[in-house]
Amino acid sequence: MAVKSFTYSIDGQDRLVTADSEWDAFALENYAPQLTFERIRYASIWDFIYDTETRHIYRLVLDKVRYSTVSVRFPFRCDSPDSRRFMKMEILPLDAMGVRFNTSIIREEKRGPVRLLDAFAERGEKLISMCSWCKCVILEDGNCIDVEEAARRPDLFNEPRLPQLNHGTCAACSKKWLDKISSW
Ligand SMILES: [Zn+2]
Repeated sequence: MAVKSFTYSIDGQDRLVTADSEWDAFALENYAPQLTFERIRYASIWDFIYDTETRHIYRLVLDKVRYSTVSVRFPFRCDSPDSRRFMKMEILPLDAMGVRFNTSIIREEKRGPVRLLDAFAERGEKLISMCSWCKCVILEDGNCIDVEEAARRPDLFNEPRLPQLNHGTCAACSKKWLDKISSW
């Protein structure tokens, strides 16, 4: 049965210290055996968040959770090639500056497979940015389009090999986060 939720936690030094069995099941379901808990126990979460803006937002969120001992909730997308996955995350304070992440799938919609999201697809040199939060494709002009629409655009995928994906934060998600953070 497909995973519906998983939980993990970090210590005061931002190292992954616990993950439930559903974490492993989700990693395996998504063809990422390198991310099972035994393989990344004590790894820093910053090893998995690459772009400056997403790191900045996570830093502010973790500070808020730790120093105000409140929880923060937000929706995000974590699509697989053949489904749109609408998820939510709740981040809660633990003792000794630890933090817990409760993640669950709110809704999943099947669709035709999007090769751009295929972990096994061969990639060329070109880079395309995807929003870490809503998984839209960020175009060079800063506009953001849904990954399915992007996959239909010949101007984006006119090369024989798929582009590599890196991550960023789109303008809409950036604004949502800034509004949320400024209300704290
Ligand atoms: Zn976004």
